[in-house]
Amino acid sequence: MIRFDVEGETQDMNNKWMLLPLAAALLLTSCQSASGAVIYHNQSLALAERVEQTVRKSTEIQLSANLGTGNPDAPEQEAFSSCLHFVEANRERYLLYQEAHPDLSEWDIVTQVNIGLDHPYYTNVQTVSDPNSLLVLCNKYWKLPDGYEPSDLRKLSSKVAVGSANQMRAEAADAFERLCADAKKEGYTIFAQSAYRSYSRQVSLYNQYAARDGVEGADTYSSRAGHSDHQTGLVVDVKNASLPYNRFGETAEYQWAKDNIHKYGFIIHYPPGKEGITGYQTEEWHWRYVGQKAATEIYNLGLTLDEYCAIFLANSSDEIPSLLSDTPDALTLSQGSSYTFSFQPAGALAVPTFTTGDGTIVTTSGFQYRSGSYLLSVQGLAPGSTNLYATFDGQAPIRLCSITVRA
Ligand SMILES: [Zn+2]
Repeated sequence: MIRFDVEGETQDMNNKWMLLPLAAALLLTSCQSASGAVIYHNQSLALAERVEQTVRKSTEIQLSANLGTGNPDAPEQEAFSSCLHFVEANRERYLLYQEAHPDLSEWDIVTQVNIGLDHPYYTNVQTVSDPNSLLVLCNKYWKLPDGYEPSDLRKLSSKVAVGSANQMRAEAADAFERLCADAKKEGYTIFAQSAYRSYSRQVSLYNQYAARDGVEGADTYSSRAGHSDHQTGLVVDVKNASLPYNRFGETAEYQWAKDNIHKYGFIIHYPPGKEGITGYQTEEWHWRYVGQKAATEIYNLGLTLDEYCAIFLANSSDEIPSLLSDTPDALTLSQGSSYTFSFQPAGALAVPTFTTGDGTIVTTSGFQYRSGSYLLSVQGLAPGSTNLYATFDGQAPIRLCSITVRA
């Protein structure tokens, strides 16, 4: 029952190679009877129990929800509490939010309530405790401490800055200049239009916009002072050589940038389709520095910074990620092919690095956290037999299976 896609063609592998958690997603989503009971086809009871345990621990709330359906005695809030980012103190809020948004999954309810979206914008506002963190979140529920100004601002090189607001924190400035230089080599010209803004600068900008478009209008594109990402010193609004910054989404530079800036530690903080999460219109030009590791995870998981913080920083005592697996038989892979396979890392949402026995990195070109599926490309791997490992940041490698790479 493990589904294994080879270049788009789905094959049902039998239990020959058994990544147990890998099986969980497909077993539980595809094998529910009309009565709602979960049926495990062709699996022993022991395996069914282990799958259930894995899923209970897994980060995939959809699966937990399915389990909830199969167990009518389970309390209603059980599905919430198996979410990685469930916060006990928010339990009542999750239930109220679910009543108001019955179509949302439990996972999304927990995420959105953790962000604060069950309250109107600019209410329940809290002050961030570490404004110097690269992951500092400034949004409509979190503000910087009064008088905050980063201590390590520096001017961007005049080669990459066209506006007068051209300072960034040193690490972000270095990364941005490197990004611009590399983009240039590929034929793309990127300039900084507006980077650091002080509290008082934001006061006058916001007031100007509010006078023109009203408070409601201004709130869709401009932050109230103290809530601006720009005040962190980690943000740059960019443009290309020919169009104004607010048409950056139409440029060839944007087409390059959206799949490359994470390599330099940047994310697009207000991406298309996330207006309801961030509370801002789409701004392809507004790049936020978070460091390479977080930027890559945010990019791979298709999240915004707001969601990332609501998921990863909700509980400080994260379990150590572990991947439960049986020992599978050898898997034969063809050079130059891509393979999709799924598993659920138990305990934490994280993106592992895949390697072979000699440490060669197996390229991952996609990851869908909802289905837990990874797309691995078999390219440049030495022919022969080796093992495939997954390594979570700071953890020992976990052996997944043995593989034979065809020449
Ligand atoms: Zn901006």
